[in-house]
Amino acid sequence: MNERVMMKHGAGGRAMRRLVEEVFVRGAPDGLPAGSVGLAAMDDGAAIPIGDGRWLVITTDSHVVSPIFFPGGDIGRLAISGTVNDLAVMGATSALALTCAVILEEGFSWAELERVQASLRATCKEASASIVTGDTKVMGRGEMDGIVLNTTGVAITDRVVRDSGLRPGDRIVVTGTLGDHGMAVLATRHALGLQGNLRSDVAPIASMIAHVLSRHGPALTAMKDPTRGGLASALSEMAQKSGVGVVLDQAALPITDEVRAAGELLGIDPLVVANEGKAVIGVRAEEADAVVATLREHPLGKKAAIVGTCTGARPGALVLDTGFGRRRVTEPEGEPLPRIC
Ligand code: MG
Repeated sequence: MNERVMMKHGAGGRAMRRLVEEVFVRGAPDGLPAGSVGLAAMDDGAAIPIGDGRWLVITTDSHVVSPIFFPGGDIGRLAISGTVNDLAVMGATSALALTCAVILEEGFSWAELERVQASLRATCKEASASIVTGDTKVMGRGEMDGIVLNTTGVAITDRVVRDSGLRPGDRIVVTGTLGDHGMAVLATRHALGLQGNLRSDVAPIASMIAHVLSRHGPALTAMKDPTRGGLASALSEMAQKSGVGVVLDQAALPITDEVRAAGELLGIDPLVVANEGKAVIGVRAEEADAVVATLREHPLGKKAAIVGTCTGARPGALVLDTGFGRRRVTEPEGEPLPRIC
């Protein structure tokens, strides 16, 4: 086979999932203890039982965003938030420790590196997390583009929340507006005149998730952070793994005017664009309004909304109800443009 890796294979949609499944997951030995969430689950992180009804949760991410500074954040804030958020949506809202590996291109600006480091530190403080070990490598000029950060996080939790627990009747809640991160990065890259009001949502959301779990834990059936590939990709994956259909109510989707405008200009649907400070949560119907009210008590959850319903019909399908009719939303092949996070 002469197939080669393409940019789409790192873009969070169907292409990336196929690469991970076919190359890394298929045939992987699974020597984990019973009750573990391992590689094959392809969840936001792994979970390994450590006794006393507790799990160790582990996640890792590499960050390659271009440009590295963008409205609302930078690669450092992204690295910490991405890792803390993957732990949080597994139910592990208190990061025990983080690692950070830095790969730099020869010639990279020392001053910019210090800016990135200050941002890493500030975001750790905001997330009540610490980097406890790391690594630094330098590659030759032209052998890579500037800087790559890899972060790993570990945390302990007494309940793991999977991305596969949706049930027919559950409501789908998003914790805020959609598409902000990806659109802000794309608008900057394309020098669109409208990025003034367009800002990335990149933020550590662990305290918001802890708040909603503490109040409504048993009613939350599934969680995921809708990063690369946006809400469409995250919900498609959740629906497929859970064996339910999901009907999204278009009128209920929280999307800012700026993101809508950028989406129209670029011809990109905000539903397939990355978020870096949001969660999508499956909630038992009877508690959905209360969950939204609790989320709105948190500064990062002010725009939380119920956006859809799970059904027993058409398992694995994501359907958008436009108010005039229904259409199938297919999981994107990948994020519309690469190097978003
Ligand atoms: Mg994730």
